[in-house]
Amino acid sequence: MDPNCLFCKIGAKQIPAKLVYEDEAAFAFEDINPQAPTHILICPRKHFVALHDAGPDDQALLGELQLVAAKLATERNLLPGYRTVINNGSGAGQSVSHLHLHLLGGRNFRWPPG
Ligand code: 5GP
Ligand code: ZN
Repeated sequence: MDPNCLFCKIGAKQIPAKLVYEDEAAFAFEDINPQAPTHILICPRKHFVALHDAGPDDQALLGELQLVAAKLATERNLLPGYRTVINNGSGAGQSVSHLHLHLLGGRNFRWPPG
């Protein structure tokens, strides 16, 4: 855990959030500024900033984030259309430096994203 990291603190329940899923490796919570009727952030407990900071040992962990997204999308009846997004780096819009997968659903989405 990085003691200065917002999402590490949320995972450790040092900062409140609406947690919707957690296990020993990952946790998920409602985004504070939702961009869709469902907007959940899915994080590894392990602190790393972006996808390119992960290595071969993180393969299963990265897969788990996707499977948690699929589970939540199924539970919330989002299967007609949902989106998973990872913003990597400020140029892609990343504002919190702890890897997180956005799960967005409940509305129609355009392509390409902005
Ligand atoms: P990024 O821009 O890094 O891809 O996504 C960061 C997300 O974290 C944003 O959608 C933002 O609304 C959300 N966020 C930032 N601070 C907090 C917080 O304190 N609590 C929660 N629940 N979400 C946050
Ligand atoms: Zn962190």
